[in-house]
Amino acid sequence: MSRETERPVPNPGVMDIEAYVPGRDKAAPGVKLHKLSSNETPLGPSPDVRAAVEAAAASLELYPDGQASALKQAIAETYGLNPRNILCGNGSDELLGLVTAVYLQPGDEAIHTEHGFLVYNIQIKARGATPVVVRERDARADVDAILAAVTDKTRLVFLANPNNPTGTYLPFDEVRRLQAGLPKRVLLVLDAAYAEYVRRNDYESGIELVGSAENVVMTRTFSKVHGLAALRVGWMYAPEAVVQALDRVRGPFNLNAIAIAAGAAAIRDRGHVDRAVAHNLQWREWLTAEFEALGLGVTPSVGNFVLIHFPDTAGRTAADADTYLAERGYVLRRVSGYGFPNALRMTVGSEEANRGVVAALATFLGGPT
Ligand SMILES: *Cc1c(COP(=O)(O)O)cnc(C)c1O
Repeated sequence: MSRETERPVPNPGVMDIEAYVPGRDKAAPGVKLHKLSSNETPLGPSPDVRAAVEAAAASLELYPDGQASALKQAIAETYGLNPRNILCGNGSDELLGLVTAVYLQPGDEAIHTEHGFLVYNIQIKARGATPVVVRERDARADVDAILAAVTDKTRLVFLANPNNPTGTYLPFDEVRRLQAGLPKRVLLVLDAAYAEYVRRNDYESGIELVGSAENVVMTRTFSKVHGLAALRVGWMYAPEAVVQALDRVRGPFNLNAIAIAAGAAAIRDRGHVDRAVAHNLQWREWLTAEFEALGLGVTPSVGNFVLIHFPDTAGRTAADADTYLAERGYVLRRVSGYGFPNALRMTVGSEEANRGVVAALATFLGGPT
């Protein structure tokens, strides 16, 4: 190769990454957009957030608090945690990336499940490490299969609980069995982005397990139930040794001042969280029943979204339904990249959006193919 055609070469693994494709945010021209593609809340953030944002906006010339202390304090009070075990991130995506930066190097292996969140695969490859993808059973993580995939090279296991895009979850005794079966050098990353929505007696987000083990961390987000996706706020609860390692690698001001103030106000408004959870429960059950009555398959979900399975009939597939709905303003999520070529994921939306999707699908499925 001549010198002129040489160019900088990305690190190993980088060009194997399939870039993350966010949920679409455009409908056909001239129709009202109902964005149901990224699991955002139809209720928006707490009304308290606006005042907090305005107060923070009064001093934009100052660097934010690099420790995000006000936010850590609010999280710690909400859940009864020690702030020293909390690390905040520019969305939980940043925290997932920091974990791979600190614990993975080329040659290492990291495990995630077949229908797991795509960010894990991207972050593992970005470090030149090898993703080991483990089969699920009935669209649910399988603890025995995960444990069977552990080798001498395994350093991380990612588990979204509940999982996106399936909406399924592992009961706490299964998560505990997973942790107990892992070598102590393997870090278990519990991504509990949808934890607030789960109303099951056998579910626990991971707080208990982090408190009792050295090799478990839990990540949470303000993007879903708290309605702050635009501001990018996430947090991790982790053993102090993990927090101290990640703290060295993160950007010194990884959360901006508006995000810190908004997050603290949002998590303190528990009434707003309760309203969002109640709305979700009511409409998730309603959507599930309505889709099933239309003859569609729905994976049982504990999150704020449902995975809808379509027939193979030409003209009635997920791709056809997606086009039909988008023309009417209802933007759902294709999930082929998650191993579901004939399904759509729908965020539980406003009453108007939910009723609109069901009515549109009834016409779509009843019409000529
Ligand atoms: C939405 C989501 C997140 C949240 O990511 P942020 O970067 O905090 O917005 C994390 N994990 C899963 C599985 C998600 O679906």
